[in-house]
Amino acid sequence: MFTGTHNRGYYLRPDRPLLFSRPPVPAVIHVQGLIFVAPAALIDGKARAAELSASITESAAELFETHGIRPGLAVVIVGDDPASKVYVRNKQQTAETCGFHSVQHALAADSSQESVLALLTELNADPAIHGILVQLPLPDHLDEQLITQSVAPEKDVDGFHFQNIGKLTAGKTEGAFVPCTPAGCMLMIEDQLGKDLSGLNAVIIGRSNIVGKPLASLLLKANSTVTITHSRTSDLPAVCRNADILVAAVGRPNMVKGEWIKPGAIVIDVGINRIQVSEGGKIKTKLTGDVDFEEVSKVAGAITPVPGGVGPMTIAMLMANTLASAKRAANISE
Ligand code: NAP
Repeated sequence: MFTGTHNRGYYLRPDRPLLFSRPPVPAVIHVQGLIFVAPAALIDGKARAAELSASITESAAELFETHGIRPGLAVVIVGDDPASKVYVRNKQQTAETCGFHSVQHALAADSSQESVLALLTELNADPAIHGILVQLPLPDHLDEQLITQSVAPEKDVDGFHFQNIGKLTAGKTEGAFVPCTPAGCMLMIEDQLGKDLSGLNAVIIGRSNIVGKPLASLLLKANSTVTITHSRTSDLPAVCRNADILVAAVGRPNMVKGEWIKPGAIVIDVGINRIQVSEGGKIKTKLTGDVDFEEVSKVAGAITPVPGGVGPMTIAMLMANTLASAKRAANISE
């Protein structure tokens, strides 16, 4: 049963450790007829991910000591996309930090479909590999669906195989892999609001198979009322203003404005956009989210930054899935 207090549009759970960078305070404080508006608390995804990675490292060491099993992660990258290379390097570094067996297969941009599928067949059969990740996007000549569906479902730590998607959609996540970005978003939402989101409205901007749709399944499972919006949604700002939880997964820099936000809402910014800014007379590339952080942080109750929010959580959830896979393969309880 829910035991928290209801405050400024969302629930605060006294029984949950809150991962705010400072304790939550009401967004609007009335003192002797004056109104003070507090800025949103920062949801520190980097710190939360570090905490998760530390506990995964500990579990992996225990798994090795007691069962001689080292979780194995294989990352497959095709081509030279600079952003993909950075993501892959970060994933591999984190896997190594967690004490995993970590391998990378970097294939040339003109690799044939047959060669990618042959590699996946090999990795599917390799007992030292518990998780396989094919970095997206793939070069245009490759069939992305055929390739992602060729990863064995029990090693599909990205959660993109139809078998895993089906289980998630049916609300049966036990024994399945939940896609890493939505899983990371969900953990941050739960940290703020608890596991039961009954009575809360969640709005997701973006209906992709890797973020929007799986996150909708998770939010629905947690009893929130979910609306998925997209490029054909009419009056998006009005829909967003109804959200106690707003997730932006669009790929459009600073699209979500302060006036779209219900005061006190939790805002999760999934977007990673590279924009050019002028700094000291030089043009630099800067990472920014889909949310206009400056405006929105004046209205929201809590907000994730970009970078340092969803990104690190995605990597931590990939490690969690790989560890779970290694345990499942050996019939060890997770
Ligand atoms: P995607 O497949 O391109 O989907 C974008 C979605 O946004 C689509 O559903 C699209 O609608 C919708 N959209 C586009 N313009 C819109 C508008 N003006 N108003 C409302 N909706 C609009 O993107 P994705 O793969 O989900 O990724 C979204 C963003 O998240 C990107 O910036 C990506 O880099 C980032 N991302 C970050 C992580 C992480 O770890 N932090 C992981 C994955 C993705 P339609 O369906 O109607 O076209």
